Amino acid sequence: MKIELHTHSYYSDGVLSPKEIVEKAVNAKCDFLSLTDHDSVEGLAEASKYSKYFDLGFINGVEVSAKHNSQSIHIVGLGVNPQEKNLIEGLQKNNNFRIERAKKISEGLFKAGIDKAYEKASLMSKTKYITRTHFAQMLIQEKISPNMSAVFKKYMTGNKPGSVKGEWASSEEVIKWIHRAGGLAILAHPLRYKMTLTKLKKLVNELKLMGLDGIEIVNSFSRSEDIELTKMIADENNLLYSSGSDYHGWPNQMIELGGAPEYDFGKKSVINYLR
Ligand code: AMP
Ligand code: MN
Ligand code: MN
Ligand code: MN
Repeated sequence: MKIELHTHSYYSDGVLSPKEIVEKAVNAKCDFLSLTDHDSVEGLAEASKYSKYFDLGFINGVEVSAKHNSQSIHIVGLGVNPQEKNLIEGLQKNNNFRIERAKKISEGLFKAGIDKAYEKASLMSKTKYITRTHFAQMLIQEKISPNMSAVFKKYMTGNKPGSVKGEWASSEEVIKWIHRAGGLAILAHPLRYKMTLTKLKKLVNELKLMGLDGIEIVNSFSRSEDIELTKMIADENNLLYSSGSDYHGWPNQMIELGGAPEYDFGKKSVINYLR
């Protein structure tokens, strides 16, 4: 069974429309697809409606930015009701911070000699959503940086000019919104937080106590040892397994929708709890 439970459309930092995401999933022969835009459920109605023309199980999703002990993490909500009031209000709070942060990023980049970054990054987005990816793609287009990892390293993280601390909702709040909206809360890409194993285990343990339901075991580029490690952390906390490519559609990202390594999750697959 092919499951793709982590993708982005242009209702966050992806390139394609929700319809095009569904088409990609059909072409990739996925059995299940979730659209999981950052702090946005705006693309779900379109994707859900269009998926009915195909033999594709569509799952309403969202990737929520959260703050946990001053660290930014991403919690994917799967099977959420996109009309649930608490969730919508919560996501609105995160998006208010996004706009504020984008202006601060722009001020930082101005000090590094880059003019009108906010305006230029906004033009990279087809919707009202603005993310660090749009700043990064703009800097690549302007030939200020060669690729995504170089931009993030030089401009957008740590103490670099376009780095702003993530004042997102707390992980506890985020898990509550997802649960109230009927969804399962899944820790996204656990190995991408640049934490030591001890710290990662502590994070997962603390999130489990807040009600975390599962972890992404497989992402694009996961090696078999990565999968085994995340599975072990999941098992220690009795968490479900999820999988998704984190597809965004930017031509320079080399990630294919449905392209995460296929893996048989058996009974612990989150998909068994979503149908
Ligand atoms: P934001 O939600 O606005 O903070 O943007 C975060 C997004 O930027 C992530 O979801 C990724 O799509 C992208 N991103 C973050 N770090 C990197 C990186 N080192 N290389 C490529 N993309 C990244
Ligand atoms: Mn993203
Ligand atoms: Mn993420
Ligand atoms: Mn993502």
